[in-house]
Amino acid sequence: MKKQYIIPIFVPHLGCPNDCVFCNQKSISGQKKNMTKEEAKKIIENYLKNIKEEDSQIEIAFYGGSFTAIEKEKQEELLSLAYEYIKKGQVESIRISTRPDAIDKEILKRLKKYKVKTIELGVQSANNYILNKANRGHTFEDVKRASKMIRWNGFKLGHQMMVGLPESTRIDEINTAKSLIKLKPKMVRIYPVLVVKGTKLEQDYKKGKYEPLTVVQAVEVCKDLVRMFADKKIEIIRVGLQNTDEIDNPEKEGSEVVARTIPPSF
Ligand code: SF4
Repeated sequence: MKKQYIIPIFVPHLGCPNDCVFCNQKSISGQKKNMTKEEAKKIIENYLKNIKEEDSQIEIAFYGGSFTAIEKEKQEELLSLAYEYIKKGQVESIRISTRPDAIDKEILKRLKKYKVKTIELGVQSANNYILNKANRGHTFEDVKRASKMIRWNGFKLGHQMMVGLPESTRIDEINTAKSLIKLKPKMVRIYPVLVVKGTKLEQDYKKGKYEPLTVVQAVEVCKDLVRMFADKKIEIIRVGLQNTDEIDNPEKEGSEVVARTIPPSF
């Protein structure tokens, strides 16, 4: 079996039309400046140099922000760069992550042209009240519509959901998983909320208006979610945000996390 590699390129907050209460995309992606074609090229070349296996399956992933909401020209610039590596046979596919309300026919046509294979949607919750509280700027109806369009157009669909959003209960999170299963994603990521600097959540946490989940609460709910998705053969590609210099224990220098009840080993 071929070994799989992902070359992650973070395109922070570009074009994102709103500010979710938990998000300071620049901290979460660890990327302080906008991504240029030159910068992306350097990252790809560097990864390719270090992937030694002959028989490997390599994917370029544009993560962070809302890829399909950035200016069209910027999308084309980055996608055409990635596509060059597909044409040369050095890379097999491209994946992107985006918002559900940044998917339409024209966008999917563009993604198809550059051989994007996987589209991950930031869903976070299936409950419109909780989405509104989190200032997501879209509803669960957008998720349903985008998910169907993605699958009907032959892309691999991924979903990202969060646990511990303001006013979200364990029942809400179980209901979110049930609603997502109906939309038939191939893969999911489950992220317990972290309180990050520079966010609305940080202000609420400091005022005592928001209480993050304890690690026990997060484990309790995540284990149920994992079981639900696994039962339906939906791949769980991540539980918990990946640790980086910025996403680390609050006492570490450079950490952007304010309250870390969810440890890096989660
Ligand atoms: S949509 Fe995504 S990038 Fe934009 S603020 Fe929300 S989490 Fe951050």
